[in-house]
Amino acid sequence: MFENILGNDKIKELLETSIKNNKVSHSYLFVGMSGIGKKMIAKEFSKAILCLNENKYCNKCKSCIEFDSNNNPDFFCLEPDGNSIKIDMIRELQKNIQEKPIISSRKVYIINDADKMTKDAQNCLLKTLEEPPEFASIILVGENENEFLATIKSRCMILHFNPIDDEQMKDYLIKNYNMQVSSNQLDLFQGSIGKAISLKDKQDIYLKVEELIENMENKNIIDLVKQAEILYKSKDEIYEMLDYINIILLKKAKMDERYTNCIQIVENTKRRLNQNANYDMSIDNMLFNMWEEII
Ligand SMILES: [Zn+2]
Repeated sequence: MFENILGNDKIKELLETSIKNNKVSHSYLFVGMSGIGKKMIAKEFSKAILCLNENKYCNKCKSCIEFDSNNNPDFFCLEPDGNSIKIDMIRELQKNIQEKPIISSRKVYIINDADKMTKDAQNCLLKTLEEPPEFASIILVGENENEFLATIKSRCMILHFNPIDDEQMKDYLIKNYNMQVSSNQLDLFQGSIGKAISLKDKQDIYLKVEELIENMENKNIIDLVKQAEILYKSKDEIYEMLDYINIILLKKAKMDERYTNCIQIVENTKRRLNQNANYDMSIDNMLFNMWEEII
């Protein structure tokens, strides 16, 4: 059921076993950084819980078909409304969860970004976690475990998701997206396959930036500015790009201390941009100051 999802093999195995043995819990907490498959696994797991076929996850029964077309009436997925999940949403869930399932013998509720529940919302949810209807399962998905009340955590089976292994990620990106990534890029992704995929259309830009920084010391300032054109055009994603530049600089600084000061220059540029300084001028300054450090 999880064949297309990368990594976290132990968690997948545990969930599969619980389905097979008919030992699905009433409440789960999936925690870990973003982009490592928590939401995808929660969804596939829900589909398997609801499947009408004894072998589970048949892809053919009414429940599986309606699940795939986002119409399964026994499945609910809550997302934050704006920046938080407020008590009203949880109250609605509480009303809804009392009603018996329609197609399946069970009902599943996923709460995505559940770490954005307000304290009131969490306290309200606690009542349901303490006495869930026999047929219901709730899966809380979140990045930051510290945002959850201890009382919530004590009621859930907590599963800690891990970043994806670099080698696994490399293979997956080549096979599925024909995307060849550098070791600097792997450092940027930090094990988040979601982040890697979100940048797949910008691969060219990232490789150009890498080339620019790697070979800075061999360039005169005119060539440098010319090649840096890509940065002048990347205003919308400049912070991500500057993070990337610092990853490359940090590696170079380990072998060549001239690069240490460049990292500070990049940080200063971030600060200046944050204070709404003129964009092109900030990039000009950054490039020139870095070049001066190195030459
Ligand atoms: Zn099915």
